[in-house]
Amino acid sequence: MANYTVTGIVLDSDLKGERDVEAEVFTLERGKMRMTARGTKKLESTLRGSVEPLTEGLFFLAESRGTDILTEWEAINCHFELKKKPESLAAAGFLARYVTKAVPAGSPDQRLYVFVKNILNLLHFSIQHDIIMTVIKWGILLASGQAPEMDVCAECGSGIKNGGAGWSVESGGTVCGACGVGSRMMPGAMSFGTGARTAAKGLLEIEIESGEKAAAHAAAISTLEKAGTRAAAEFSSALGRFCDYHLYDGMSKLEMRAR
Ligand SMILES: [Zn+2]
Repeated sequence: MANYTVTGIVLDSDLKGERDVEAEVFTLERGKMRMTARGTKKLESTLRGSVEPLTEGLFFLAESRGTDILTEWEAINCHFELKKKPESLAAAGFLARYVTKAVPAGSPDQRLYVFVKNILNLLHFSIQHDIIMTVIKWGILLASGQAPEMDVCAECGSGIKNGGAGWSVESGGTVCGACGVGSRMMPGAMSFGTGARTAAKGLLEIEIESGEKAAAHAAAISTLEKAGTRAAAEFSSALGRFCDYHLYDGMSKLEMRAR
């Protein structure tokens, strides 16, 4: 049986039998896949830590008739700083659950991988929860090519200035004054939407190897925070409904606040 190497982020792991752990991993090369780490409960096992959720590593695998077997690994990032922050952990958990539930197994998605990696790096910083959740949802929409329209009316196609009049889940984004009867949104929320879009777009485009660029995006996100908590919360919930409707029914149920 052949051996191979993948780069991946652990999404979830379960005990398999008494000493083995089966992990679900989002890999760059093969998309979402499962792997078994044997004997990880032993103190001397070199595989300890490899299958902790959110760990990013280089995984050496041996093909097997069941799930492939993890033989060795090298840590890329264990995200200890992130795990110390409950709100960051909640946001990372949301992203991990999204990939677990909504991304099909075995289909690589490099853009989404880069995005997940960058978000995890960003979550080492203390970023306001509503804002990072909005950036995450926006990034997922962009990665899947389903981002809502923000600059033109989703109903009639006319240009929108100063934020438009509303937000229509069914028509797919911002709607103008003439079309936007019923679904109102705060004016401040729109400028936040533009900022979230810009930040998420940047996070999708960073090269895999350039980890330090993620720090620059922390600064971009801190400028978003000036949009205000209320606008952020309103925009985030509008975006959540959009995601439920267009992307993954029940996406908003994946969201759990840490406190
Ligand atoms: Zn219109």
